[in-house]
Amino acid sequence: MTKLEEFLKEPLIAYFSMEIGLSTDIPTYSGGLGVLAGDTIRSAADLKLPLVGVTLLTKKGYFHQEIDETGQQIESPDEWNPWEYMKILPERAQVVIEGREVEIAAWLYIQESITGGKVPILFLDTDLEENQPEDRGITHFLYGGDASYRLKQEIVLGIGGVRMLDRLGFDIKKYHMNEGHSSLLILELLRRYKRDIEEVWDEKLVWDLDRVRRLCVFTTHTPVEAGHDKFPYDLVERTISDLVPLEVIKEFGGEEHLNMTHLALNLSHYINGVAKKHREVSQNMFPGYEIHAITNGVHSYTWTSEPFKRLYDHYLPGWANEPEIFVRVGKIPDEEIWKAHMEAKRELISLIQSDTGIQMDEGLLTIGFARRATAYKRADLLFTDIERLLRIGEGKIQIVYAGKAHPRDNPGKELIKRIIQISRELDGRLKIAYLKNYNMDLALKIVAGVDVWLNTPMRPYEASGTSGMKAAHNGVLNFSVLDGWWIEGHIEGYTGWSIGPPPDVEADPAKDAEDLYNKLENVVLPTFYNDRHTWVRMMQNAIGKVAYYFNSHRMMRRYVTEAYIRD
Ligand SMILES: *Cc1c(COP(=O)(O)O)cnc(C)c1O
Repeated sequence: MTKLEEFLKEPLIAYFSMEIGLSTDIPTYSGGLGVLAGDTIRSAADLKLPLVGVTLLTKKGYFHQEIDETGQQIESPDEWNPWEYMKILPERAQVVIEGREVEIAAWLYIQESITGGKVPILFLDTDLEENQPEDRGITHFLYGGDASYRLKQEIVLGIGGVRMLDRLGFDIKKYHMNEGHSSLLILELLRRYKRDIEEVWDEKLVWDLDRVRRLCVFTTHTPVEAGHDKFPYDLVERTISDLVPLEVIKEFGGEEHLNMTHLALNLSHYINGVAKKHREVSQNMFPGYEIHAITNGVHSYTWTSEPFKRLYDHYLPGWANEPEIFVRVGKIPDEEIWKAHMEAKRELISLIQSDTGIQMDEGLLTIGFARRATAYKRADLLFTDIERLLRIGEGKIQIVYAGKAHPRDNPGKELIKRIIQISRELDGRLKIAYLKNYNMDLALKIVAGVDVWLNTPMRPYEASGTSGMKAAHNGVLNFSVLDGWWIEGHIEGYTGWSIGPPPDVEADPAKDAEDLYNKLENVVLPTFYNDRHTWVRMMQNAIGKVAYYFNSHRMMRRYVTEAYIRD
């Protein structure tokens, strides 16, 4: 049994994230951000990096999704039992919320790698008998409730997280904020390192900004201004007290409202976006800060299906902990790549059959689209001109969808409805399956079991995107708008295909559908049906070029050399 003491011997990086996707059984994630956090932790464990994760327990998860016949999403709490995976530690930390003292406990989960590496993760929990009923629910729902609920969660995560690490005896050398949800940790550090007034000649100098800055690393994930967490100051004043004076919060968090991104930007020595394009977009949004780029990656072992794991183990031993070995993908015979792919495809087809009753055909080009159902991802772009889609694809394609809409995202819910309704209307002509309750297990089955991974975000909203990297690990070809990571991974007709204009040409949403149809008809379908050799070559390139680079081992090595060891 691993004990906490094991992790207290050397200074660690504290990695803070509102959501962490460790496995389907621990439903404390909602999408890409959380899965990335999970991949970060898995790679850190494999690479034996000195890191500790901090997140919320969210005992009722994000939500469990059902979809009724009309396409209406039905949500229910996704309850899980932390006792099955982790143990609660006896120590307590305290924060003050609305003037009440709130007790925080931490559950210890240990991510263990077969390399022997171990990463502890603290899941913070306020559902304790000592707390008032209203405070016990603070750590129940991921992204649930209103601004006040969210602010309370961020107090527990940011301030409570730092205090808990301290209470447990961790020695922290950097605080890495994965998105702005944990920025309040900065206020706690300011308070902690406050200088004595006698030591300084100017009252302002009581705040040791340099010291706090040197401790903080900030990764932003949001390419549009409206997406950043903001709180009105009357709410902040009511909720947070006794920390640092409001003028200080305003100085770094903004005059009008507390902007969590600004707070993190102002007091972090290293700031990065999650793809090169996202760095550029962020730099334009926040001139005056030096913003770097560390392009996201996915955890290779987690996102490779069983048939491909067997193939890689045989031909590319060592690949899982050294994904650079994918450079030798040419050693794998074409037929074996195709065979492994067909095995993954058949597994998906049988899952679709048991889940929806729809019997797909293993010989047809299968297109996959699964991710959070939210407007900018444009899950329905493929249906811009249904007649045209039928002319191109009837008898030749079939489509698999999955994805949850946030409970308050009505346009996202409408998207699900629209797809379900179209699938009804096209019944008998084009098979379209919408799988319910998208999660990490399902994600792996879909990304590995389709032939083409479709991605149609509105530019520049996709900061990075990661599901296409998972597809590539399974030899599945990306067919995607040139946004986020794909700008770096795309070589036309070689690693996959683009949709719409090149990144330096202004986005034109109307043209995207046009290009999608043209390329599907004239390039993708003919290659799939008439030129299997080229198709398999492209599958090899997806593995040897895309998976080779877009993995979280490379990403974490870059965080270490560029962010963690710098002052
Ligand atoms: C990888 C993953 C995502 C991210 O998908 P994108 O297409 O990059 O947005 C979301 N949800 C789950 C469950 C995932 O596994």
